[in-house]
Amino acid sequence: MLDSPSPLLIDGRLAAGSGGTFATLNPATGEVLGEAADATAADMDAAIAAARRAFDESPWPTDLALRVRCLRQLRDALQRHADELRELTIAEVGAPRFLTYGAQLDAPVNDIGWFADLAESYAWTTDLGRAEPMGMASDRTVVREPVGVVGAITPWNFPHQINLAKLGPALAAGNTVVLKPAPDTPWCAAVLGAVIARETDIPAGVVNIVTSSDHALGAQLAEDPRVDLVSFTGSTETGRKVMRAAVPGLKRVFLELGGKSAFIVLDDADLKAACSYAAFSSVAHAGQGCALTTRILVPRDRYDEAARIIGKTLARLGAGDPADDSTICGPVISERQRDRVEGYLELAVKEGGTFAAGGGRPEGRDRGFWIEPTLVTGLDAGARTAREEIFGPVLVLLPHDGDDDAVRIANDSPYGLSGAVHGGAERARAVAARLRAGTVSVNSGVWYGADVPFGGYKQSGIGREMGVAGFEEYLETKAIAEGI
Ligand code: NAD
Repeated sequence: MLDSPSPLLIDGRLAAGSGGTFATLNPATGEVLGEAADATAADMDAAIAAARRAFDESPWPTDLALRVRCLRQLRDALQRHADELRELTIAEVGAPRFLTYGAQLDAPVNDIGWFADLAESYAWTTDLGRAEPMGMASDRTVVREPVGVVGAITPWNFPHQINLAKLGPALAAGNTVVLKPAPDTPWCAAVLGAVIARETDIPAGVVNIVTSSDHALGAQLAEDPRVDLVSFTGSTETGRKVMRAAVPGLKRVFLELGGKSAFIVLDDADLKAACSYAAFSSVAHAGQGCALTTRILVPRDRYDEAARIIGKTLARLGAGDPADDSTICGPVISERQRDRVEGYLELAVKEGGTFAAGGGRPEGRDRGFWIEPTLVTGLDAGARTAREEIFGPVLVLLPHDGDDDAVRIANDSPYGLSGAVHGGAERARAVAARLRAGTVSVNSGVWYGADVPFGGYKQSGIGREMGVAGFEEYLETKAIAEGI
């Protein structure tokens, strides 16, 4: 399905990169999986030109039936290749196999169909009826239209989910797209290009996929005046750069950024169940999820007990081969990411923290990039380790003095992406309502789904992905008044 080196997709053609190739690694072993096309600024320029042309000249923005048919073709084609895609995802992302049956693969592929269905049933035109503003009789209509060329810039942690949560709604809405994936996971994006070119009728230039080892191509995409909207997922720091790049052209930006979400255990919760769930859910995929709840807040008088429960759960989970069915926590993506996480482990000790579990590299994992599932205790809520996004399997346990205090600590963060509460239903709901975060899980509820808008308050982002709100991010609004 995918050759090595993997190709770019530009203007309907699968092409080599002008910059040669770059290696993509298996994070579980550190071995080179193969090569990906390394695009240059000239390739990016050609991709943007193709997307612009396809938007301005092809039937894509206006032919809804074509879009719906092509999106279903894409979903069906990806589903036909599910087995190969699963192995590729495990190998390139280090994603534990169990996650590929959900958000790492099957769910986002299936969700393409949800966006096709939504586009088909969507109220593209709203009749506001007749009025006589300033004495002039007029029939008024509001029309929703695609924004234009979308620059989609994505990270490596959930590549299919994030690539497809941008492509699905952007394409269903009638936009054309240039997708620039992270250099760590080029194959997960390139495989979409190969399937689109070979197995769908998506017209040339509607989707362009530009893999590159050079982050500067993301900046180029964000700056280019031919791009109407930048849809970015990544770190808050890069999000700021994207926003700055969009200023001269005042183009729309849609940002899904970082987080340091809180898991609040109330004093009437089942402590063992809550803490076990918090531990398991927050180190899945080695903690490399923007919405994972990596600050766990427990009643002060149960702190030691909670540390024992979470520590034991993490030790039992361990870090395992992502290809195994039972693995929850696999490797981290790269040497750079491992270094970053280890930097935070050193910082945690300097800040007075101790490890109730983990704190180093797992024994016997000499190749690849690994960190043990780790619990840091004894930190102040203001410590950097307790406030900054680590993006590794590192949880911080903090004490709280009741519901108000827990809400205060949870909200005392520049981020506001997600949160979780465990406790008696009524109190848990009341606490959830006070959290300044875009998604909240109450008593292990799962908010993930095609129809659920996902995004951040505060510095966790601007806009929403998925759901009707996620689709409407990719639409313009035009009001038409016809004199009578
Ligand atoms: P990153 O910000 O380093 O890179 C993200 C993407 O931006 C990559 O494709 C990269 O090449 C590109 N890029 C780098 N510099 C750029 C620039 N100046 N202009 C434009 N593009 C540029 O993030 P990462 O390390 O790939 O991913 C991890 C981060 O992503 C974490 O902070 C995580 O929280 C965040 N994330 C957020 C969400 C969400 O939905 N909120 C989802 C997943 C990951």
